[in-house]
Amino acid sequence: MVLEIDSGSHIHHRQPLFGKGILTTATVDLHCHSRCSDGSLSPSEVVQRAASRGIKALALTDHDTVAGLAEAAVAAQQNDLVLISGCEFSCQWRGAGVHIVGLNFDVSNLELQQFLRQQRLLRWERAICIGEKLSARKCPGVLAQIGRDRDGVPPSRPEIAQAMVAMGYVKSIQEAFRLYLGAGKVAEVPQIWPSCEEVVAVVKDAGGAAVIAHPGRYKLGGTKLRTLFSEFKEAGGDAVEVVYCGQKQGEALTLSTYASRFGLKASVGSDFHSPEFGWADFGRLGPLPKGAVALWTAWQEPSC
Ligand code: MN
Ligand code: MN
Ligand code: MN
Repeated sequence: MVLEIDSGSHIHHRQPLFGKGILTTATVDLHCHSRCSDGSLSPSEVVQRAASRGIKALALTDHDTVAGLAEAAVAAQQNDLVLISGCEFSCQWRGAGVHIVGLNFDVSNLELQQFLRQQRLLRWERAICIGEKLSARKCPGVLAQIGRDRDGVPPSRPEIAQAMVAMGYVKSIQEAFRLYLGAGKVAEVPQIWPSCEEVVAVVKDAGGAAVIAHPGRYKLGGTKLRTLFSEFKEAGGDAVEVVYCGQKQGEALTLSTYASRFGLKASVGSDFHSPEFGWADFGRLGPLPKGAVALWTAWQEPSC
């Protein structure tokens, strides 16, 4: 299979991306993370790992940042792999936290960059607020402990918990959540995210595709999930992550059936974070269910 890479740009956001070769769930992965958010590998290490496990088309989708894409693009050229621009956005839908993966957008889009700055700011504000509450409860210095070598990446709650363990404030991450960080505890700070509609609009205005990430993880139930899909489609959304790692038996088929019902395409992604989590790694995705329309067919040259 020959993938055609247009030499003009390092990161793809125009069509067509690919030649006529058929991409499958064994060679496409449109959801993964690097150290630029909560992954453990550098962007180039992520690309190398994906390539070595058979991936030909990869989207790096760090949480609320595109900081890793430039490095990943260089590695992609060296590893004969097509890199698709990507980002996983946190948003809110009817009180539930939902993740939307934006794909194949123009990274230089100013509104998108401004939006991501705002998202990062929200993460920092929350982290600082948690840090202050912990200080008031005799656990000072937690953010400073995380602060080194982070390049401005806002600390997540699991990282805050980890730092609390390292500083001897608690015995385990679980204990940090049970005593301080969890729901109803002294250092709980709810995160307020933008709406799904807002995120879809930002991604679409930057020329990209919007995908509902890992729909099975929101514990929404069939009726609510279908409402989410329907409203997402109405807002201009493109696809649903139909195949991902750690799914229940039959889940991909159910998601694919719902997606088709609302005219949404199918996307796939491992949600790789670290080699330590072997259950979410490259090259481990099951096949697309029959009848699913792959999102990436829109990025391929029409066959004639
Ligand atoms: Mn993550
Ligand atoms: Mn997610
Ligand atoms: Mn993810």
